[in-house]
Amino acid sequence: MTTTPELHHVRPDTVMSVRDLRIWYGTARGAVRAVDGVSFDIRRGETLGLVGESGCGKSTLGRGVLGLLPDAAKVAGHVLFEGEDLVGMSRRRLRSLRGPQLGLIFQEPMTRLNPLMRVSQHFLETLRTHQPELSKEQMRRRAIDTLGAMGIPPTRFTNYPHEFSGGMRQRIMIALALVLNPAFVVADEPTTALDVLVEAQILTILADVKRNFDTSILLITHNLGIIAEACERVAVMYAGRIAELGDARAVFARPAHPYTRELLASTISLSTTSLHYIPGAPPDLIAPPSGCRFHPRCPDAMTVCPQRHPPVVTTELNQDVACWLHGPDDQIPPGGSAPLEREAIGVADEA
Ligand code: SF4
Repeated sequence: MTTTPELHHVRPDTVMSVRDLRIWYGTARGAVRAVDGVSFDIRRGETLGLVGESGCGKSTLGRGVLGLLPDAAKVAGHVLFEGEDLVGMSRRRLRSLRGPQLGLIFQEPMTRLNPLMRVSQHFLETLRTHQPELSKEQMRRRAIDTLGAMGIPPTRFTNYPHEFSGGMRQRIMIALALVLNPAFVVADEPTTALDVLVEAQILTILADVKRNFDTSILLITHNLGIIAEACERVAVMYAGRIAELGDARAVFARPAHPYTRELLASTISLSTTSLHYIPGAPPDLIAPPSGCRFHPRCPDAMTVCPQRHPPVVTTELNQDVACWLHGPDDQIPPGGSAPLEREAIGVADEA
C-alpha cells in the first residue's frame, strides 16, 4: 500500500487532470465548501462515473471542471485540459472552448431548449457561433447527421421542442452537446427525469458516442446501477471530497471505503429482501465534521477518524481510498485504531 500525494500520476492518454480543486461560496453563515480538495484524471474515451448522495458537491464539481460556475463561486486548484489550466482562464477563452472542446448535458432539457425556437435553429445557432466557416447546407447536414445518430429522424428537424417526448428532448440535448465533437463532456444526471426504458436508450446512446467519437465523459449520478452499466471507473464523493476512486467493477465487488460499502448496501435490486439505509444525513458544508467527514455516520469509525483527515492511499486492487482503515499506519497516533466512542462526540449510534 502506498501513500499518493496526488490521486493519480498523469497517464499519456489523460484528457483532463483535476488537481486539488476547491470551490466555495460565501454566505452570511460562512463559506460553503462544496468541493474541497478534489483530484482525479479522465482518460481519452472513458466514462468516469461520479456518484454520491444529494448535496455532496457532484454537480458543483461537474460545472467547476467546465468553468461554468456562477460569479459568486470562488475557485482554487487546477483543471488542466489540453495543456491549459481552466482555473483562472479568461471568460472569452473559456467560451471559445465550450462547445468545440467541452460540452455539458443537462438534467432537464426543457430548461435549456428555447420553446420558441425550432430544433434546427438551436443547431444552426451553435454551429454559426463556433464554425462560421461552414456553409448553411453543411451546417444543416452536420446537425441532421448528429440528430440521426441519436435516433431523431430528419423529418423532425424543424419541429419545436414541445413536439417531442422527454426522452427525445434529452437526445436532442445530447446531439446539441456533441454536434461540435467535443473531447470532453459532463453529463449531469442525464436520465433522472426519464422512465427506465428511455433511460436505457440514453445510456446506449452515450456508450455509442464514447465508442464512435472517442469522447471522454464525466457521468454524474446518484444511481449506482447507471454507473455499473455505463462507466469504466467510478469516483465516490462525500461531503465535497472523493472518498474512493477505482475500476467500477473492482469498487463494486470490493468497496474499500465504508461509505461506498454503505451506498451499495442501500441500493435496491430484485434480490433485496430488507431495506438498508445509511444513518444520518450528509453534513452541512459550512461546518462539516472534523477529520474524516463521514465519521458521524461510519459504522467502522475509530478514535483517529474525527481527529485527522485521512490521506489518499492506493490499495492492492489499485483503488484510491481516503480512509484510516487502509492506513497509512505510521500516521495513526497511538490508540487511534480503537473503536470510536459515539457518546464522546455526541452522536447517537443509529446502526
Ligand atoms: Fe470510517 Fe474512519 Fe474510514 Fe472515515 S476514516 S470512513 S470514519 S473508518
